[in-house]
Amino acid sequence: MKLNLSERTAELKQIRDEVLNLKLSPLYEYRRQNNYLPVIGEGSHEAKIMFVGEAPGRNEAKTGRPFCGVAGKVLDDLLASVGIPRAEVYVTNIVKDRPPENRDPLPKEIEIYGPFLDRQIEIIQPQVIATLGRYSMQYIMQKFGLSDVLRSISQMHGRLFEAKASYGTIKILPLYHPAATIYNRELVKDLEIDFQKLKTI
Ligand code: URA
Repeated sequence: MKLNLSERTAELKQIRDEVLNLKLSPLYEYRRQNNYLPVIGEGSHEAKIMFVGEAPGRNEAKTGRPFCGVAGKVLDDLLASVGIPRAEVYVTNIVKDRPPENRDPLPKEIEIYGPFLDRQIEIIQPQVIATLGRYSMQYIMQKFGLSDVLRSISQMHGRLFEAKASYGTIKILPLYHPAATIYNRELVKDLEIDFQKLKTI
């Protein structure tokens, strides 16, 4: 069902309230001890493109905003390179709380937070889901029944996949995680080329 803008905002706020009180999450206590915030998502509630990252880092958990640190700067530059305003897209993560020391999300955490991402997709109904990094690639490809075409991210990035969502056909675009460019500058070129795809869709 397609919701109007105020219904979407109300439903997303409901998700925020649920995550705030998600005591069964293994990351809940860590959030409380560090005075961190959950990071639900940010951007247009009517976005055509949704970016899905992994989990918040320290800056994100301090501010409650996704991709606002070093990786966020890379994402901003990539969006600017194709002339897509960040305010027009929606940016979120699979895991909504910061894992200690920025470690990779655990299967249990993905299992707990995944359903919130599923709901965000149903509420916003993006036409394109661009995954950032291998965890969100795996999650989204599996969610949309594309497990059999899953390969390593170096083989998948920049390829467009069609999938059936409850609200129609969508496109999935796996991308490298912007933070990967901090360790491997050569990936910037790949990301720039892959971002061009967003303009052509
Ligand atoms: N990395 C992510 O995957 N998500 C963020 O929000 C920030 C860094």
